[in-house]
Amino acid sequence: MATAEFNAETRNLIDGQLVPASNGGHFDNINPATEEVIGVAADGTKEDMENAIAAARRAFDETDWSTDHSFRKHCLEQLNRALSEAREDLRHIVIAEAGSPILITYQVQVDSYIDAMPYWSNLATSYTYESPMSDIEFMGKPQGRLIRREPMGVVGAITPWNFPLYLNLAKIGPALAAGNTLVLKPAPDTPWSATHLGRLVVEHTDIPAGVLNIVASSDHGIGAMLSRDPRVDVVTFTGSTATGRAVMEAAAPTVKKTFLELGGKSATIILDDIDIDAAAPMSGIAVCTHAGQGCAIQTRTLLPRNRYEEGIEKIAATMSTINYGDPLDPANLMGPLVSKKQQERVLGYIEKGKQDGARVVLGGGVPTHLKKGYFIEPTLLADVDPDSVVAQEEIFGPVLCVIPYEDEADAIRIANNSIYGLSGAIWSGSVERALSVARKIRTGTLSINGAQWFDVDTPFGGYGQSGVGRENGVAGFEEYLETKIVAIPR
Ligand code: NAD
Repeated sequence: MATAEFNAETRNLIDGQLVPASNGGHFDNINPATEEVIGVAADGTKEDMENAIAAARRAFDETDWSTDHSFRKHCLEQLNRALSEAREDLRHIVIAEAGSPILITYQVQVDSYIDAMPYWSNLATSYTYESPMSDIEFMGKPQGRLIRREPMGVVGAITPWNFPLYLNLAKIGPALAAGNTLVLKPAPDTPWSATHLGRLVVEHTDIPAGVLNIVASSDHGIGAMLSRDPRVDVVTFTGSTATGRAVMEAAAPTVKKTFLELGGKSATIILDDIDIDAAAPMSGIAVCTHAGQGCAIQTRTLLPRNRYEEGIEKIAATMSTINYGDPLDPANLMGPLVSKKQQERVLGYIEKGKQDGARVVLGGGVPTHLKKGYFIEPTLLADVDPDSVVAQEEIFGPVLCVIPYEDEADAIRIANNSIYGLSGAIWSGSVERALSVARKIRTGTLSINGAQWFDVDTPFGGYGQSGVGRENGVAGFEEYLETKIVAIPR
């Protein structure tokens, strides 16, 4: 397969120009379902990142991008139209480079977030950036106060490969709508989901040079430059908790804000009053979606001790019928892992689980019927010790850990026994009872009986080491704004 088949842009966007790497270098883009090189991307250098940061700084300091709300709205509406028109190219890019099943590209992976982008262009003008506060008294005289929200400046955005287009847009949309300029550094596994946006910006929008810069690179150190550089005011990062810590550390000397969306180890609690036939299979389906490569996917299922074996049977029965393989086949819920490295990492976790006493009920290896691609079988581990490595660390594969609990309090304790706190699910015959449990779980999002929370206006983020800050919603927009108070004499 050649790049042309995807119509993908392979150059970086720096200061309004689509450019090859400063040293002419490029790196391979590999389709994880076929293991074939599908093309290349410009391999951004230190000089490229240096130029991108300088351009973003200039565009923030020297143009009226940060103050002209209507112009920003106009530019973002142009981008929204371009995204809509390029939807099929983007869909095939995401499928080819992330191995995403086409089924989920019709949801958050591609369509639902492209369709949601007007939320950000509208906020550019509808948000109240300045409003009076009530007067206070000082030395016997009334004092007026104005509260202003202003863009933070230059945003450094670093994104992962699992939902690449969505996560790139979830940073570009609010950061630009709020009046910032931005440098995006995507994951090396999924460069085109970022670089292709550069072409749309150049060909279809009036976004001024330097406002949006995109620097793909095979070198993680190029992303680290954003954390360290004093000209960057805020780093918005989505990725693993380990890298999040490194970003925070590198940002500390310049005391810049770090806005972090990190890993998860979310639990499904199946309470003892629910029809287990209806509830248990859902956790098997969830963990296989996009081969488990989603930070908010529930990867631990807690079953009541008295229905434990029955629940395991139901989950295994469902997981054994899940279709997986070619991401282009609409019947498949699950494609490959994104890379050989991730496949090996997941296999390593399965081995570790077995060593620590987990029982492999289903799967546990590489499927023999798929000759190419970084696939892993849907895998069900039972009798998992809640303190063991597989119950505590993010596996990021189609691997579900089942843990028995004694009573409701025990279930809550096990669910909260994690450094993470991103998401979770509760199944109960009583929504009231599920709600009372939900109030005790320390995570950023929760679903009761399969209800869906995701939307562009839903603030999303984590407790504990799942992150700092909230993406999406007005709360997500405000992450990109400073607060200024001006006192006015009366
Ligand atoms: P990763 O942390 O390895 O890499 C993420 C990005 O950081 C990549 O662009 C990478 O090049 C860059 N990077 C690596 N080292 C860096 C450094 N020292 N400084 C700056 N940038 C650096 O994550 P990944 O493997 O690409 O993605 C999977 C992880 O992302 C999982 O842990 C998953 O839970 C998490 N994730 C979180 C969310 C969320 O919203 N909470 C969403 C999706 C994925």
